[in-house]
Amino acid sequence: MKGVIFGAPGSGKGTYASRLQAKLDVEVIAMGDIFREIMKQETKLGKKVRGYVEKGLLVPGKIVTEVLKERLAGIPKGKGFILDGYPRTIEQAKLLAKITDLDVVILLTVPDWIIIERLSTRRICKNCGTVYNIRFLKPKVDNVCDKCGGPLYQRPDDTPDVIKKRIEVYEAQTKPILKFFEEKTLPFVVASCNELDTPPETIVAGILDDLRKRNLA
Ligand code: ADP
Ligand code: ZN
Repeated sequence: MKGVIFGAPGSGKGTYASRLQAKLDVEVIAMGDIFREIMKQETKLGKKVRGYVEKGLLVPGKIVTEVLKERLAGIPKGKGFILDGYPRTIEQAKLLAKITDLDVVILLTVPDWIIIERLSTRRICKNCGTVYNIRFLKPKVDNVCDKCGGPLYQRPDDTPDVIKKRIEVYEAQTKPILKFFEEKTLPFVVASCNELDTPPETIVAGILDDLRKRNLA
């Protein structure tokens, strides 16, 4: 399966993609995670990327393209993938269409109030990137990752002002891609979440069901 998981910031892309990866034989390419890794390095590139991410702005196309091509090239032949956080602009969508075909778009629809509530209470493992939420998806021990024991932190772009900016950027630059996908007549699997405390497993089970119906899982 070659797919894209698509939705607003905080719609759960990373949370569901990592769970889907565990159930399907696919690799997840998570652009945000890759940029957070790059930002950890005190290199010129790391500092440049930080300047965008911490303001809630998109990283420039040239950098993104290079990262994408490198990661796609690293996927073993015949193995599927899920792209999380790519494409985020029409230009990126067009470029992707040139590089590879897609089988499916997994579309996450979540009301704004849930997004804001979730992002402001989100915590991430510094070591392995697993996503938690101090209200709805708690680790077993406060501030400690269940998987690797690493410390949890709040992303610097999960503050109210930057969250607002990211949602604006999504509405203006990313959401229009949906029309592009529709014109390509790509199949959509839609997962809607209208409650704050729906467990990720419930959503993931729904997505898997749909993928199976389409012979993609
Ligand atoms: P979100 O929760 O907003 O979906 P991500 O972890 O996917 O967060 O991305 C974090 C940040 O990384 C974005 O706000 C943006 O600055 C940068 N980024 C991620 N993917 C892309 C992309 N495809 N193009 C440009 N910038 C990106
Ligand atoms: Zn961890």
